Amino acid sequence: MNDLFKKKNNKADLSHSTRIANNLLLKHYNGMNRKKDNNQPVAWVGVDIPAYIFRAMGIVPVFPQIHAAFQAQRKAVKNMMNDLESKWEIPHNICGEVKGVIGAVLCENEIAFNIPKPDILITSNSTCGQVTKGFKFLSKYMGVDLINLDFPYVYDEINEDMINYVSDQVAEMMDILENKIGHKMDIESIHDSYANIFTFSEMWREICEANIISPAPVNALDLFMFTSCFISMDTDDGMLNMMAALYNDVYIQTERNKKIENNEKFRVMWHYLPIYSKKRFFKNLFDEHNVSLVTGTYLAMHDELGSAMKFDFKYPITKEQIENAKFQLKYSKKGETIDEVREGMIRYTATSMLNSDVHRGVQDKCLKIKNMVERYNIDGVILHNDRSCRPQSLPQYEIRKYILEELGIPVLFFDSDTMDERYFSESQITTRFEAFIEKMATRKGI
Ligand code: SF4
Repeated sequence: MNDLFKKKNNKADLSHSTRIANNLLLKHYNGMNRKKDNNQPVAWVGVDIPAYIFRAMGIVPVFPQIHAAFQAQRKAVKNMMNDLESKWEIPHNICGEVKGVIGAVLCENEIAFNIPKPDILITSNSTCGQVTKGFKFLSKYMGVDLINLDFPYVYDEINEDMINYVSDQVAEMMDILENKIGHKMDIESIHDSYANIFTFSEMWREICEANIISPAPVNALDLFMFTSCFISMDTDDGMLNMMAALYNDVYIQTERNKKIENNEKFRVMWHYLPIYSKKRFFKNLFDEHNVSLVTGTYLAMHDELGSAMKFDFKYPITKEQIENAKFQLKYSKKGETIDEVREGMIRYTATSMLNSDVHRGVQDKCLKIKNMVERYNIDGVILHNDRSCRPQSLPQYEIRKYILEELGIPVLFFDSDTMDERYFSESQITTRFEAFIEKMATRKGI
């Protein structure tokens, strides 16, 4: 038998692509300090505002919320949370992610990477009021200007008025930034950014959809960490190399899984953010019960990006395939004037920001889950209810009701905190998980 098919495990070993991602992150964070030293301005930016705008202007974007997530992945938050609460009297019940953002300034000695201080802060109310408050606090504490974008809440469909309302603010923000840096954005850089973003979005879609088959070739928990890279480094060339490595790792396992015995008992999905520090714990739990975590609503965050061109990437993805895809995308936009490109970019940015999952209505979230349940043949849904995240935790009760009553599948519903491991009990979750397994088994008659 070919070596490719000897391995029994049905999940891809992503150690190679993960190593590339880690090196890329180190390079990314070290590089931004060098750029700051070379007088490149630095903007601290909220997660819903795309990085490519800043890169096209020669501004270094830093996403303190993503930095906070890395911090949690490295399990380095306990001391920070204790210090913030005891030394700085930050209330214990505000969002752990926002505490991680504030902690990057107040607890400098405990942060994961040495991130450069901002020359400007930019955020929006698209995620939540806690983020805007956190940025306001930092603006005051550090004496740095703050731009705060106002987004309408999307209950149903995005309409023209909403797009125009947000576009006007994006245009104004870009004028302020261009005045600050003293030059206009670079058209070549925008073309490069578009080409990179659309190419990796297409690769990402194909990687996530590999899990439609059973047994699923990837543990979706492994994929969550890659989503943080998207936000921080969306236009970085290294991202495409990382995605190619990931694509190839997943492809090999997909081919293996077509030949091995299928011992997958249950297929589940995750709604809302993962618990970064508990990845190993959940992986063990899934493996023990032959459960595949096949997808999650946060993994589909790039679905809206879409591309006018679909690329049929072939294994192994090579540098030539990537360059070819980028070339086609880049030159599909050639010929536009800088004003046309700027306008297109503003509109595109406004639309993608309005598509943010967090501030969309419950109906929209339910529909997204329904589509994923059908597409990925899901047996049960894990609903993580982050108690410190009020905008997300309130709708979770309605979402649970919808899944149980309308979709008719079991739910594992539990309270915890994405960032703060002090609110996680392994023994309680193990007991609840076993009950969840029993319900799925009864439903499937096994
Ligand atoms: S986790 Fe929730 S409360 Fe925290 S920043 Fe995100 S949306 Fe806001």
